[in-house]
Order: sequence, then structure tokens, then C-alpha cells
Amino acid sequence: MNIALDGPSGAGKSTVAKALAKRLGIIYVDTGALYRTIGLYVRNKGIDKEDEKSVIDCLSEINLNMEFINGEQIITLNGVNVGDTIRTGEIAMYASRVSAIPEVRAFLLETQRKIARENSVVMDGRDIGTVILPNAEVKIFMTASAEARAMRRYKELVAKGEDCTFESVLADINLRDKNDSTRKTAPAIPAEDAVFLDNSDLDIEGTVERAIEIINEKVK
Ligand code: C5P
Repeated sequence: MNIALDGPSGAGKSTVAKALAKRLGIIYVDTGALYRTIGLYVRNKGIDKEDEKSVIDCLSEINLNMEFINGEQIITLNGVNVGDTIRTGEIAMYASRVSAIPEVRAFLLETQRKIARENSVVMDGRDIGTVILPNAEVKIFMTASAEARAMRRYKELVAKGEDCTFESVLADINLRDKNDSTRKTAPAIPAEDAVFLDNSDLDIEGTVERAIEIINEKVK
């Protein structure tokens, strides 16, 4: 079974996808981590994230591997586990820019499809239902207001000790939403057959329950 879980940044997709994977006994695939890993490489090489040509040129130097150990996703970049180094606001902005480049998306396409061919997955991303897994049995488009998403992300970052303000997180979310939804390649828009799940007023448990209902309706 393949479940596509798409939606904007901070909608809680990863938390919900993890809970769903656990409940259903399937693998959780975080595709944003792949774009973040490309962003990390670009940043570490000192390449300007707006410089598309240099970003495209450096793809040939990247050997990226995704595997699952005890259900945990491990990404290695040229043999080195990226771990949490991709989980910063700065790398998220790099990811958002490089993910708008068609060559970057093409570079990561097969890695995502392969894992879904070989396993039952709940895959979280932006274009999973539209581009990566158009035949997924279940497609959920999860969203929440920009303010609700920014507040969640802000709390997460503060808990990790990052120095930020709510306003700066909201501004980042708005900017990323704009980048993600207006780009020409694979914009973050719902598939025609996706079911909407707005969780502005739901907590995690409520969102998971609703997602389970949607899955049960689709696969019965
Ligand atoms: O989900 P996450 O915040 O880790 O994603 C980082 C960035 O990667 C997003 O802002 C988005 O631009 C990009 N992304 C994407 N397609 C995906 C997953 C993430 O373009 N499937």
C-alpha cells in the first residue's frame, strides 16, 4: 500500500506520517530530507542557492542513498550519514530553492519511486500524489493556516535551542509556501483525487484519527 501525504511546510505531515506508519506497520518516507540533503551539499560547497547552473552542475558529484534501519530513515551523502545537520532553518531555505529546479527533482525521482515499489509506505512531501506516486491508493493533502503552522514550527525550533522569533518563522513559512506553490515544476498543489485534511483546529491525535478514517474509506 502506498499513501501519499502532501501539503505545505509545518502542517504536521511528518508527525502524522510517523504515527500512521507505526499504526499500519509500514515505512515512513520523509522526502523533504532528500531536498534538504541536496541543500546541505550546495551550502557546504559555498554555492549560491539562486545559482541554478552551479546547483545542477554539482549534482553529478552527489551520491545519495536512503535506507531504513529499524524503521528509521537514514540518508547518506557521499557515504556520510547527514543526521540532524539537515534540520535547520537555513537548510530548509536551501531545500526550498533547490527543490524548484527540475533537474534536482528528476535527480531524486527514482530514489522515491523505488522505495515505494519495494515497500508499503506513507510518503510525505509536496508532489507525491501528483508526480511521484500518481497511482497511490490513498492521497491526503494536509494543511493548516500559516499562523497555526508557524506556531508549531516556532515551538519546535525553540525546543531545539534555535534562536528565532515567531515573526521570522511566519515570514519563512509564507516565503516557502510561495516558492513551493508557484514554482513551475511540481508545485505543492493537491492531486485531483486527494482528500483534504485541514488540521488548524485538530491536535496530533485528532489528525491521525481523521487520516485513518480517510485511509479506511479508500482501501475498504
Ligand atoms: O518537508 P521539509 O520542510 O523537510 O521540506 C523542505 C523543502 O523541500 C520544502 O520547503 C520544499 O520546498 C521541498 N520539498 C519538495 N518536495 C518534496 C518535499 C520537500 O519540494 N516532496
